[in-house]
Amino acid sequence: MDLKSGNPYWAIKNGLMCTFPQLEADITCDVVVMGGGITGALIADELANNDYDVAVVEQRDVAWGSSAACTGLLQYDMDINMVDLARRYGEAHAALVCEACTEAFTDLHDLITGLGDVDFDMQESLHCVSKEGDKTALREEQALRFKHDLDAQWLDSGQLLEHFGIKAPGAILTRLAARVDPYRLTSRLLMRLKERGGLVFDRTVIDSIETSEQDVTIRTPEGTKIRARHLVMAAGYDAQTWLRQSVAKSRSSYAFISDPIERATLGLLASTMVWESARPYLYMRTTGDGRLLVAGDDDNTESPGRRDRILEGKVKHLCTKVKERFPDLRVRPAYSWSGTFAETADGLPFLGAHPQYGPRVQFAMAYGGNGILFSMLGAGMLRANIEHRPLPLAALFGFSRLDNSLAEKASKTVWKTREHEAV
Ligand SMILES: Cc1cc2nc3c(=O)[nH]c(=O)nc-3n(C[C@H](O)[C@H](O)[C@H](O)COP(=O)(O)OP(=O)(O)OC[C@H]3O[C@@H](n4cnc5c(N)ncnc54)[C@H](O)[C@@H]3O)c2cc1C
Repeated sequence: MDLKSGNPYWAIKNGLMCTFPQLEADITCDVVVMGGGITGALIADELANNDYDVAVVEQRDVAWGSSAACTGLLQYDMDINMVDLARRYGEAHAALVCEACTEAFTDLHDLITGLGDVDFDMQESLHCVSKEGDKTALREEQALRFKHDLDAQWLDSGQLLEHFGIKAPGAILTRLAARVDPYRLTSRLLMRLKERGGLVFDRTVIDSIETSEQDVTIRTPEGTKIRARHLVMAAGYDAQTWLRQSVAKSRSSYAFISDPIERATLGLLASTMVWESARPYLYMRTTGDGRLLVAGDDDNTESPGRRDRILEGKVKHLCTKVKERFPDLRVRPAYSWSGTFAETADGLPFLGAHPQYGPRVQFAMAYGGNGILFSMLGAGMLRANIEHRPLPLAALFGFSRLDNSLAEKASKTVWKTREHEAV
């Protein structure tokens, strides 16, 4: 799958941070992780830190899939509002999910603080009401989060204008948010894994998976194999192609980054990420070197060719939206890109085993706009699954949820499925 178009800024800024050997001889290990993106890197890190003998296998250079296109906002907010999650699964479950996301945020913060040098910084996050009609829903959202002691403060239009200079009917302000360079984070995690004795192979495609009761064997097209007690499928949006069941829908998102802007000119944007209730939404945040990153305008485009063709128009549209909201800010795109991401019907990830492969294959489909947080959550959850101590959220984040209420919805949605048979 061609995951991105244009020039993702992180790869230009950082260059090729690390390379690893290709897999040229058969090996055995405890856990083999398929995919060297942020999800694979976080899970491999968690496992290696807990004495597992881990090997990561990546078909491209590491971090060169959708992790290179990611805009690197870290938030406990999800694509689905807590209120909608509560309507679907009950308030207690919604609270459990949001609490797990805040814990994952803290875990990620601690991990990154230990790793260092990945352009990480805490930011405030403003979720603005785009139009008067959206206000009640966002107000309810803030009230529910507040009830569950989650970080969410309501700002009315006067407070927004006074403290942030933004004209909008209201907003939710949260302080549990941050920015990171996702390409740098992934590369540095995998470099550390190697330093600690883990194995990383890049430019190595896995094209078959064979499971037995005792182990899993994966093979490359050249016939080289890895035998492991467990496989973690962290193949990003390609993971769907290994399942007969369609569990997510691919979409595209668009982004650009400006040249550095004076801090005084950036004003609130220097330390606050801004997004909105409109769908598709626009969002903005800054980098450590004072660039403004603007993204959104998501659509259902799946074809890389079409994505290439419409990128320029999308960037112009994003610029127009920025001018409407911040008329005094002069923003010129320096680099622009777009990338594939995936959405599940309920906005939650799929983390766990699928009946098609049995318990030795753990899927890490951390899909959604805050995929990095879901990947962090998945790291703890998949280790718990491997150790036969499932966590309270295992059922809600597992494939079994498709068997009941969601099964009907999923089958009614026309989602492209590309099948791979397990060998
Ligand atoms: C434009 C855009 C903006 C985004 N912004 C944010 C954001 O602000 N915050 C956030 O949290 N998330 C964001 N996301 C989502 C985020 O990018 C994803 O959640 C994250 O990158 C997924 O990481 P991954 O490791 O699962 O996938 P990937 O980075 O795609 O890694 C999977 C890897 O598996 C490899 N692979 C696949 N098949 C095989 C095979 N057969 N053999 C070997 N290797 C294989 C691929 O080559 C790939 O490198 C954004 C996404 C896009 C597109």
